[in-house]
Amino acid sequence: MHDLDIYKAPSILTDDVGCARRLNARNVSVGDTGAERGRGVFATREFLPGEIVIVGLLDRMERIRTTDSIQLDWDVHALFEEPAVVVNHSCNPNLAILPNRFGAYDFVAIRQIHPDAEVTWDYATSELECVGVSVCLCSAGNCRGAARGFSMLPPDHPLLASGFFAPYLAKTRTASEEAGDAAPSPQPL
Ligand SMILES: [Zn+2]
Repeated sequence: MHDLDIYKAPSILTDDVGCARRLNARNVSVGDTGAERGRGVFATREFLPGEIVIVGLLDRMERIRTTDSIQLDWDVHALFEEPAVVVNHSCNPNLAILPNRFGAYDFVAIRQIHPDAEVTWDYATSELECVGVSVCLCSAGNCRGAARGFSMLPPDHPLLASGFFAPYLAKTRTASEEAGDAAPSPQPL
């Protein structure tokens, strides 16, 4: 019967947020990137693709987009608790976002991540426009030069093709694709 005593040991049934914070503290640490990008978040263990690295938790809602806010829906912006709020942008990230039960996003490993590696995600997968990274310092081979926003991502971008972006943005993609489909004049055969 001991295993069934869900009320005594720490459990997500009784302390969901506390468990998420403990998980985050075990998975990552906040540190200095040693570069112009300031603070960043680093893996403290190995992760396989598909593992949740950070459980996103809402700190507070913001009335407008800020350099640290994360977009949840049309005109809905939020500050996430640390460590999520500190995760830097990369155009070639090792994390992707997935909506979670807290109304925020989880940050999921999209490839193998080694201990001490900096974890990053692509801000354009949540932001319609992005004001946080006007000059991108990610130094990836495929760097776009700035995070820009969702509409600037090419339709065949792997994060779009796999569905790892904020659900509200699917509407913009569908709308623009429909507009795009309708726009070209029929070509004579
Ligand atoms: Zn970049």
